[in-house]
Amino acid sequence: MSGLELRIVTLYPDVMSVYADRGNLIALEARCRARGLGTAVNAVSIGAALPADADVVLIGGGQDSEQQRIAPDLTARGAQLRAWADAGVAFLAVCGGFQLFGHSYRTGEGEELPGIGLFGVTTVAPPPGAPRCIGDVLAVAEDPALGELVGFENHGGRTYLGARARPFARVRFGFGNNGEDGTEGALRDAAIGTYLHGSLLPKNPAVTDWLIARALAHRYGQQPALPPLADAFAERAHAAAAAVAMRRARRV
Ligand code: GLN
Repeated sequence: MSGLELRIVTLYPDVMSVYADRGNLIALEARCRARGLGTAVNAVSIGAALPADADVVLIGGGQDSEQQRIAPDLTARGAQLRAWADAGVAFLAVCGGFQLFGHSYRTGEGEELPGIGLFGVTTVAPPPGAPRCIGDVLAVAEDPALGELVGFENHGGRTYLGARARPFARVRFGFGNNGEDGTEGALRDAAIGTYLHGSLLPKNPAVTDWLIARALAHRYGQQPALPPLADAFAERAHAAAAAVAMRRARRV
C-alpha cells in the first residue's frame, strides 16, 4: 500500500488523554506503517486551525475540568466536524470526548456543557458522591466484523441514546453507556463513540483496521482489503483483558 497516505487529526491531545488514550494514535500509526501506508498527523488544540480535510479524527477522554476547557472551542468547530462525519471521515471519540460529541453533558454540579451533536446522545452525571462506572469491560460490537471488544471505563456521566442513535456495542461485563440498558458507545457512518479506554485500539486491532479501511475509503474512494498482520501480541493482550473483565466486572 505504499504511496498511499492517511491524514490523521488528533483533537486536544494535550488536554484530552487519560488512561493511555494516546495509545490509539500509536496503534493506528503502527498498523498503517506495517502495511507501508503513510500517515500525516496534525495535532489540533485550543485555538489552532483545523486542516482543510482529514481522513480520521481521534479525541480522548478527560475530566470535567478538561471538558470545560475545550467545550467552547469544540462547539465552534461543530459544523465542520459534523460535515466531515457526513462525508465519511472516520472518528474515534473516547469517554469525555464521546460525551462532548453528543448533544450535551450535564456535570454532577449541574453545569450544562454543550456538545457538537455528532452523535445523537445526551449525557447526565448524578450528583457528586454517587457511584461512578469504573472497571474493565467486555462488550460485543454491533458490527459483526468487529466482534468482541475489551477496554477500561471510568465515568460519572450516564449516556442515553436518542431515538435514532445506534449503539457501538452491547456490554457483557461492565457498565457501558449508563449501567442500565446494556448499550456501549454510539456508531454513525464511520464514527465511533465509546467509553472504552485501555487504550482501546492496541487491544482491539479489528477496530483499528475498521478505522483505517474507512479512512482509506474517504481518501481514495474505495475500501481496499487490508493485508493481514501478525496479531499474536495484540490477541494475547485482548485475551488477558477479557479474562480480567470476566473475573472482576459486573455481569450484565
Ligand atoms: N468527566 C467525564 C465523566 O466522569 C469523563 C471522564 C473520562 O473521560 N474518563 O463522566
